[in-house]
Amino acid sequence: MAEAEAPILRLAIPAPIHGYFDYLPPPGTAAADLAPGIRIEVPFGRGRRLGLLVGIAADSEVPAARLRHALRVLDQTPVLPPDLLALLRWGADYYRQPPGEMFWSMLPAGLRQGAAAAAAARGIALTPAGHGHAHDELRRAPRQAELLARLRDSGPLRIGELDPPARRAAAALCARGWVEPCELGESTAAPDWPAPDTGLALTPEQAAAVAGVRPDAGFAVHLLQGVTGSGKTEVYLQLMAERLRAGAQSLILVPEIGLTPQLLTQLRARFGAAVCALHSGLGDAERLAAWRAARSGRAAIIVGTRSALFAPLARPGLIILDEEHDSSFRQQEGVRYSARDLAVVRARALGVPLVLGSATPSLESLRHAREGRYQLLEMPRRIGGGEEPALSLIDLGHHRQQQGLSTPLLAAMRRHLDADGQVLLFLNRRGFAPALWCTDCGHVVECPRCDARMTVHQHDRRLRCHHCGTERAVPDACQACGSAALAPVGQGTERIEEALARLFPDIRGVRIDRDTTRRRDSLARHLEAVRRGEVRILVGTQMLTKGHDFPGISLVGILDADQGLFSSDYRASERLAQTIIQVAGRCGRGERPGEVLIQTRFPTHPLLQRLCDEGYRGFAAALLAEREAAGWPPYARLALLRAEAPARRPPQAFLEAARELARSFGIAGTEVLGPAPAGMERRAGRYRQQLLFLAADHRPLQRLLGQLPARLAALPEARQVRWVIDVDPPDLI
Ligand code: ADP
Ligand code: ZN
Ligand code: ZN
Repeated sequence: MAEAEAPILRLAIPAPIHGYFDYLPPPGTAAADLAPGIRIEVPFGRGRRLGLLVGIAADSEVPAARLRHALRVLDQTPVLPPDLLALLRWGADYYRQPPGEMFWSMLPAGLRQGAAAAAAARGIALTPAGHGHAHDELRRAPRQAELLARLRDSGPLRIGELDPPARRAAAALCARGWVEPCELGESTAAPDWPAPDTGLALTPEQAAAVAGVRPDAGFAVHLLQGVTGSGKTEVYLQLMAERLRAGAQSLILVPEIGLTPQLLTQLRARFGAAVCALHSGLGDAERLAAWRAARSGRAAIIVGTRSALFAPLARPGLIILDEEHDSSFRQQEGVRYSARDLAVVRARALGVPLVLGSATPSLESLRHAREGRYQLLEMPRRIGGGEEPALSLIDLGHHRQQQGLSTPLLAAMRRHLDADGQVLLFLNRRGFAPALWCTDCGHVVECPRCDARMTVHQHDRRLRCHHCGTERAVPDACQACGSAALAPVGQGTERIEEALARLFPDIRGVRIDRDTTRRRDSLARHLEAVRRGEVRILVGTQMLTKGHDFPGISLVGILDADQGLFSSDYRASERLAQTIIQVAGRCGRGERPGEVLIQTRFPTHPLLQRLCDEGYRGFAAALLAEREAAGWPPYARLALLRAEAPARRPPQAFLEAARELARSFGIAGTEVLGPAPAGMERRAGRYRQQLLFLAADHRPLQRLLGQLPARLAALPEARQVRWVIDVDPPDLI
């Protein structure tokens, strides 16, 4: 009985369960001595697991007889600061993700396995003998006396913080047996960061943007809408420098560090050792070291990809998200969340400004800016006064093509190459050809596990499925009719590269896609060769859209704009426009004005026309009006319940039951639509269906979702499917 009234430890434990776990404190430990944010080892099923203490509760829904005692406390001090605990709780709740997985997937592997949260530092402490000695015994050794007094007053000291005479005194006191070495956590004393370089003289627009962000005014969200080449990076650098001089850290998130090695180089040049990088390219030990540097405050600038949003900060001063429209800020594997939207929550909790930068902001952010929740900072002109390149369309229905390259595009390429320009061709499809086709019977080779065609990769003569990774040799004969007349149809980057070698035999080209950049550093090497002008034609995928600065490129060709025009996903047109503008932004950055040619079979499509005539701003304004009229995001909130199974029927049965359940809650202002098959119903051998929840506002939607996970888990149909909730889904396919 006495035990049932003992305070309960509420823990986040990595398990696919939509809730926290309750335990009693370890025998002999008072709950009052335990701070949220520490790790505790507990019995879990038949094994043991580490949990993170998120709070202490007065009572539990678990019957007293079934509550177990925790085994062991790992930390004296919290691993995570209160702001992160609150952020992760909020995130797990908002996105309806299992909280244990939310908390633990954010921690470096070392910490998940029990490593200390702070790097160890060697220190010295008094021995019992040292405590007993009187000061006047050291009258002839004033430095030793002084050190002894410091140790008595302030406890153990870090050796790294002692000056050389004090270190010699420490050695002498050790020899007397009055002082002994010990291990201490890393210092959290104010670090002495190196002073940053001055940086460039700002243009008036940049200066206005920098002045518009007022860290002393606390939390605010700023949308920095600057065209490509307007110098957003320098704005970030100067904001961070200002924060550093005020003793505060800055966190800057980018889509992919590997794709933008220039930023890291610039940060290191400006801030030296005060920079630490957190991204997926790091080994476990490096990652833990970088995380500790952020937590102790040793690093002033923390740069990373989306999960770096969860880096603990000793002295938070500023958060920046560059390319805020980029879909990589959304995590869709494992725990689902938007780092951009959580950045707003974190900045508000910390009372620091958040800067969202992009040439092509998301419609969500544009709506917030329009309604005054975000402050809009605009940089509509390029550095050096160059114009943004003009876009024009090439009608593929009217012009002959060679391997997907139309006559006007080829003519323009010759013109630009003759004038010493460089050319960038964009095609978001790697491989040689997107399909292998039998010219006798019309059979197309499909992936055995997906509703998708196999892509032909010519250099190693393999067929690969880009959705599940299945691969095999290119067959000699048609599976259906035995004919040997198999032909690759359509173009991928590999085929374009081959065609270019034939069409422009004396001009060096390079292909940049995932197939050519697997090896470490090969991307950086390719980019360097482009920047030096050795490579004159560049063909590549999405990887080329990310923030690269190539002063020599004067022509951009977008080989196929039609992929995004007629997609079933309502966001496809927004993505297409962002991609076109970002790719287009790679050219005309030097002396030469840029030219952008877009190949399409639908040159009268209103979306393409508007983008060409009015640029991204006009396009986005029109799309916003369309979404508002249709009651679609950002003027509505969506969530998807996705389910999948090896057979077709179970996901459908589960979602039908889920629909009835959700409707039975009777929450006004919500709609439940479906279930319907996913855009690609079968992927990697699993059939996928989805149910859509729609509301005008997030409140009723959250009310609906709040009751859902626990009830879904209890449905009998749930046993035969894997399901996941996707709040604010980035796509509906
Ligand atoms: P964005 O990120 O907005 O596309 P960048 O940050 O890549 O633009 O800047 C474009 C180019 O302009 C870079 O080469 C950068 O070094 C240069 N630049 C930026 N600000 C200045 C400035 N104030 N003075 C001179 N050059 C600048
Ligand atoms: Zn055939
Ligand atoms: Zn497949």
